[in-house]
Order: sequence, then C-alpha cells, then structure tokens
Amino acid sequence: MKVLKFGGTSVGNPDRIKHVARLVMEEPENVVVLSAMSGTTNTLVEISEYLYKNNIPGAQETINHLEAKYKAVIAELLETQAAREEASASIARTMALLRAYCSERFSPEAEKEILAQGELMSTALMVALLREQGYKPALLPALDYMKTLENGEPDMQHIGATLRRMIDLEPQADIFITQGYICRNNRGGIDNLKRGGSDYTASIIGAVLNADEIQIWTDIDGMHNNDPRYVEGTRPVHHLHFEEAAELAYFGAKILHPSCVLPAKLHNIPVRLLNTMEPHATGTLIYNSAPDGTIKAIAAKDNITAIKIKSGRMLLAYGFLHKVFETFENHRTSIDMMATSEVGVSVTVDDDSRLAAIVDDLKHFGTVSVDKDMVIICIVGDLEWHNCGFEARALNALADIPVRMISYGGSNYNISVLIRKEDKIKALQALSEHLFQ
Ligand code: ADP
Ligand code: ASP
Ligand code: MG
Repeated sequence: MKVLKFGGTSVGNPDRIKHVARLVMEEPENVVVLSAMSGTTNTLVEISEYLYKNNIPGAQETINHLEAKYKAVIAELLETQAAREEASASIARTMALLRAYCSERFSPEAEKEILAQGELMSTALMVALLREQGYKPALLPALDYMKTLENGEPDMQHIGATLRRMIDLEPQADIFITQGYICRNNRGGIDNLKRGGSDYTASIIGAVLNADEIQIWTDIDGMHNNDPRYVEGTRPVHHLHFEEAAELAYFGAKILHPSCVLPAKLHNIPVRLLNTMEPHATGTLIYNSAPDGTIKAIAAKDNITAIKIKSGRMLLAYGFLHKVFETFENHRTSIDMMATSEVGVSVTVDDDSRLAAIVDDLKHFGTVSVDKDMVIICIVGDLEWHNCGFEARALNALADIPVRMISYGGSNYNISVLIRKEDKIKALQALSEHLFQ
C-alpha cells in the first residue's frame, strides 16, 4: 500500500480534482491524503481574524464568497443529482458552522474548528466524484484517528491501531480518502498539524501503516536545487538522503513540511516528490541512500533573530553555555544555529514571541545584543568533513555579502550561514551560479 498526498494546487479547481481522481484510480487501493483547495485555508484564517475582531459583516461577506466558490465547484465537478446533493450537504454543514460562529463568542478552539473545514470540504468533493464515477471510495475521517499527545507529537500507537481498524471495516473499498492537516489534540479538541501539515499527515500514515512508499504530489517536479521562487533555472534533485531532505525542509524548502521527513525516516519508508501536472516527470526520491560527495540544494529560512551573549567570564567558565541554553529552554524557544568563541556565543531563533523575556534573563550572564530580520541560508549535500573544498566554494560564492554567522560540522549534511534579509536573493543566486553552473 502507498500513501499519496495531493496539495492545495493539485486539487485547486474542478479540472484538477478530476485529474487527481484519474491519477489515483490508475493504481487503486492506496490511501489518498488531500489538502484543502488552494486559497481555502487562507480564507478560513481571514474569517477567523474577522471573528476575533468582532467584525461580523467582514466575516459574513467572506463566508458568502467561500460558499459561492464551492457551489460553483460542485456545479462544474459533478453531474448527477445524487453526487451534487452529497457534496452540497457537506459544504452546507461547513457554511452553517461558519455562520454559527458569527453569533457566538470566538475562541482559539473555534478557530481550530474553522481551519479544519478546508480539508473536510475537499475530501467530501473527491468522495462524491469518485462515487459518481462508479468507484467505491471509503472516507477515513482524520478527526477519528489522527491524534496528538500533550507535547503536540502524534500518538503513533493510537493512530496506527485506530486507522488499521477503520480500514479493515471497509473491505469493499477500492480507495481510501482522508484529510491532511487536521487532528484532535490530547483534550479531544479539533486541532491541526500547523500550516502545510498535510505532508506530515501523509508521512505519519505511511509510517503507521508501514506503507511501501509515501508520495507527495505537488505543483513542481520534485525538490529543486534552489528556491524556484527566487532563483531562475533551478533543477530537480533526483535523489536525496532523508537527512538532506530534513535539513532542506527545516530550513525553508516549502515543498516539504519540516516535520514530514522524520516518521518516514524512522520507519525507512521512501518518500517520492511528484508533480501532479506532469505525472511522468522523475521527481525526487528521498531515501536512506543518495549520491555521495555532492552539494544537492540550497534553501533559505526567513524571519530569524540572532542573539549574541558576550561575557568576559566565559573564558574557562564551565556552565556558561548551560545557563544560556537553560534560558531558552525555560522560555520554550528552540535554537536553530549557534557559533561560539572564547568571549561569547551567538544563537538564532525563529520564534521571537518570548524575545524580550529571554534577553532580560540573558543579561544576568553577559552583554546581550540582538539582530532581527535575518535569514539562514542552508547549503545541503554530502558535506562530510573529509570531502575537501565544499565549504570554501560556498563561502566564495558569498564573498560580496556580509555574513553574520557560519555553522558547519553540526551534521554531515549542511553548512548554514546567517545573512541580512535584504541580501537573501542575491545570496541564493550567487550560490546557484557558483555551485551548480
Ligand atoms: P502544496 O500546496 O502542494 O503542499 P507547496 O506550495 O506547499 O505545495 O509547495 C510547493 C512549492 O514549494 C513550489 O511551488 C515551490 O514554489 C516551493 N519551493 C520552495 N523551495 C523549493 C524547492 N527547493 N524545490 C521545489 N519547490 C520549492
Ligand atoms: N490546508 C493546509 C494549509 O494550507 C494544510 C496543507 O495544505 O498542507 O496550510
Ligand atoms: Mg505544502
């Protein structure tokens, strides 16, 4: 069994939904994970923002637009009365729920329920379409099995046992359809796996079902060697090691959700990145082996804050780093990158919500300075330290750009450099020119 995940653009309009239906039925009996139609989750975020601000007319107008859009989709996607009624009932449930929140007190729990509606609607459309076409799709409601623990991690045992039971109850099904992104938290409330989280859903399902392969179908032919949104002439990388893919996803390659690689890696399940619009393109295979001795790709992570703590007493003072790390731990803020010297340490964080309190606490241990609006550029490949010259080539490419921090040797797979936001595009382009041309 394989797990196939289709992202928002892959199901972004009626033609694309029909195309996905054809693709998944070419090789039936797999599990298909769907995102919301592109734009829908953003619209649901917008509705929630209006409701938080108690702007009821704003929310109502946006709900009306969303409803009109889905009514038009149903009219174009489905032909039979039965299929249209089935899909319309699901869309009507969502619209009623959204409208009910226009007259209730709004809360974070209500927001989570609203954000879940996109995937509930896209899967309802797909099931109605497949049924209309004479197939026997079984809907596996994610809210019935996808559960997270108190620490936010997926409850793999519960998910595996429940999902297997649900699948066994549908022996006649020729395809299984489920929602990406949405889940229940440890209190039983509706929750989600963070934006872009449908990739993570697919990987969790692949892991618990011990799938033959996890396929992430999107709008590009695999992981490119640089960010195609900023650099022209990027090319797909056909093979990546799990570790390389994890670094790229974590450091900004939007094609993969940062948490998506781990479950697949732990269960040794290959992940294939494929293009829905070009199904025969090779794409990228992520597995536990990949070509050695090459630089594979570059990614960038925005909105990074660098914090430097300088202490005259760091010299020979054991325990200094411990105190610094403990401060970040106390504020539940994780560190991405670090560089140390005899007189100080620099670290970066991407979550600056606790920054003021962190800086306040760090001032007990030294002089603290902060640089905001920084970007981590991550160069990924087989960069094991015996492979000479890669770090020199990467840094040569950045010769004209001020570099605030460099980190190399933390793993065999990456070199990270911290630069200013305004230098990001120039840095990505220069790296492509020096490393791939
Ligand atoms: P989906 O909606 O299918 O989940 P995403 O928008 O989340 O799709 O991810 C696909 C997008 O990721 C591509 O359209 C591309 O713009 C962006 N992207 C960023 N970095 C890379 C990269 N290194 N390789 C491929 N795509 C990338
Ligand atoms: N629909 C969700 C989002 O837009 C999840 C996903 O697409 O992966 O973030
Ligand atoms: Mg995505």
